[in-house]
Amino acid sequence: MDVIRKFDPWGDPLCTCPPKYSFSPYTGCSHRCAYCYITSYIPNAFNCRPKKDLLKRVKKDVSKVDLAIPISISNSSDPYPPEEKDVLLTRRCLEIFRDKKCRVLLITKSDLVLRDLDLLREMDCVVSFTITTLDQDIAKKLEPHAPLAKARLDVIRRLSKKGIPCTVRADPVIPLVNEREMREIIRLSAEVGARHITASTFKPRADSWRRLSVLFPKASKELRRLYFGDGQRRRNAWYLPARMRREIMRKIKETCDENHISFASCREGFDEMSTGESCDGSHLLR
Ligand code: SF4
Repeated sequence: MDVIRKFDPWGDPLCTCPPKYSFSPYTGCSHRCAYCYITSYIPNAFNCRPKKDLLKRVKKDVSKVDLAIPISISNSSDPYPPEEKDVLLTRRCLEIFRDKKCRVLLITKSDLVLRDLDLLREMDCVVSFTITTLDQDIAKKLEPHAPLAKARLDVIRRLSKKGIPCTVRADPVIPLVNEREMREIIRLSAEVGARHITASTFKPRADSWRRLSVLFPKASKELRRLYFGDGQRRRNAWYLPARMRREIMRKIKETCDENHISFASCREGFDEMSTGESCDGSHLLR
């Protein structure tokens, strides 16, 4: 297939995702998150551009889709960048997926998804919102062009009320930057109706580390020691020490338990802590 492809975790043994397709209406993403990893493999990644002849290509691909396997939108961009307001590319793709009865996992940081509520109600879909901080000053640095967490939480409330299952990705968790906010993020997520939390620690690559260390110079001194001194390198990313990652995940799981919301970690290797039936929330599809 051309634009709808089998999700490929690049052979990462830590990936616990069930089978799914991966699809991105846009190449690149204008949310410009400091921690974003797409800059390591997409040229000019913060310049969001619609894929050429996309609708024609989607229509061709969709006839070959196994309808039992969900389509994840998107893993290498946000399906609701500011451009989507005028371009409506994601909306047009969702219309095709609705007509073909495809199952869909949407992953976004934008409240613009609410615009497509009419379509989502007619589909088997789950919407995952990434929430990393409730602090506006930190948000300005971490996710400078994405809507604030408050707007995302509000949309979770509204979608949940309409019967659309929502999950929250607490990802990435960064010690000394946003880790202390996780308790409140999970509490609020549960309060507005999210049904599952997926958590993952920050795993910097060379370019995301450069951005983050400039934005958080104080924290970066200690982070440098944790990642590059005590931590470990796996492929092209650095990981915090395993003991520290385990402790961060344990605390998040405990908070999820307290708030009666299921938990899974993403690419951490602590699957035994999971209380959700899937890591990515796909178990919430009908
Ligand atoms: S929303 Fe996702 S793809 Fe877009 S810049 Fe942020 S992390 Fe990267």
